[in-house]
Amino acid sequence: MKKELKGFIIGVIATVILISSAAYSESVKQTIEVLFNSVNLEVNGKKVEADNILYNGTTYVPLRAVAEMLGKEVEWNQATRTASINDKKETITAKVVRVVDGDTIIVNFNGKDERVRLIGIDTPESVHPDVSRNLPEGKTAYEFTKSRLEGKEVVLEFDVQERDQYGRLLAYVYLNGVMFNKTLLEEGYARVATYPPNVKYVEEFTEIQKTAREKSKGFWKNNTFNGENVEDKTSDSATGTVKAEGKYVGSIDSNKYHYPTCRLAERILKENEIWFDTVEEAEELGYEPCGICNPK
Ligand SMILES: [Zn+2]
Repeated sequence: MKKELKGFIIGVIATVILISSAAYSESVKQTIEVLFNSVNLEVNGKKVEADNILYNGTTYVPLRAVAEMLGKEVEWNQATRTASINDKKETITAKVVRVVDGDTIIVNFNGKDERVRLIGIDTPESVHPDVSRNLPEGKTAYEFTKSRLEGKEVVLEFDVQERDQYGRLLAYVYLNGVMFNKTLLEEGYARVATYPPNVKYVEEFTEIQKTAREKSKGFWKNNTFNGENVEDKTSDSATGTVKAEGKYVGSIDSNKYHYPTCRLAERILKENEIWFDTVEEAEELGYEPCGICNPK
């Protein structure tokens, strides 16, 4: 459409498309008259190469064209018919040189090997320090991750924290555009584990886990995880809390207490666990809040 065109030109523009679904019953179809490209639009001094319309004193522009020029990403969720504008994800591309565990891999980028923990999830132990806990399901998760990721090029996306205290990268790992953390949950080879403050996808993960459980995928078939029955211990709450023997957990050989889903809590050997229902209970026994998960 040429800029020089003046006046009311386009007679009919359906601004909102009639959608039959009841959920979007507020959508209406109406015929309006608009001014086409009557406004010159620039973003940071660059011309917006997309048509705009002026209607009732408001200029309407294509969401994606403008958002992307502002350095944002636009995502479309067909199921909920939601367009969202988000900050660009911080990502890096790397090659997987070795799979350590179902949820831990070694990648190489910029000529350097880096250990990466897939976050938001937890796979059963396959290399537990206590050999008696090296159970078949841990090996299955390891074999699955190895078969899919080893030697492949992946994209790492980060959450709030890029690394943990051990220097490991904390990442959502994408293989061919599909997040592998989700794949593990879908297949029932991992369960949701929250690592505050890295909880970007916790709700989505919890939903995927719920479906995997319903379908008895992977280890949900027997409801065992690290040799323990998880039937009654897995809540479907948004926090994805997986152990429910108390609200907080500590180790008898440390003075810190954690949320059970904290990655440090995960390292506490079963026989050393001490559970608390309240902060007071923990602190009365001389325990202090963990600096990573900040139990409150
Ligand atoms: Zn903690």
